[in-house]
Amino acid sequence: MPIDPREPYDDSNIFARILRGELPCNKVYEDDYALAFHDIRPQAPVHVLVIPKGAYVSWDDFTLKALDGEIAGFMRAVGNVTRELGVDDQGYRLMVNMGGHGHQEVPHLHVHIFGGRQFRFMIAD
Ligand code: AMP
Repeated sequence: MPIDPREPYDDSNIFARILRGELPCNKVYEDDYALAFHDIRPQAPVHVLVIPKGAYVSWDDFTLKALDGEIAGFMRAVGNVTRELGVDDQGYRLMVNMGGHGHQEVPHLHVHIFGGRQFRFMIAD
């Protein structure tokens, strides 16, 4: 079910629990601003999620409330992850689902990195 992005941050969401080390993840990258790990249900040969360390429900919440340094650090981290994964060479796709129409399911901002194959259509359905 998509989340309601107007709800306050829920500290028990699955990515908050991964950040606190309460649940495992297949980690690929971590710095002061972000944690990146493989998606549990990959939809491409490379499917990695990058999440900010701060408690932000969504892209909307993050771009409204995060400090400039957090936004810059997170953006840089996404780029670092793509280079560490090696997808920068052939190209990749980034995706952020936001709220109901975006079909966001986990209420902690995450950027999807898809790579490892050719993508064509922008929107599947
Ligand atoms: P979204 O629809 O943008 O909210 O995407 C949520 C993504 O989180 C989906 O691609 C799920 O497969 C992924 N996901 C859910 N739980 C986990 C988990 N424990 N570890 C890694 N990925 C997860």
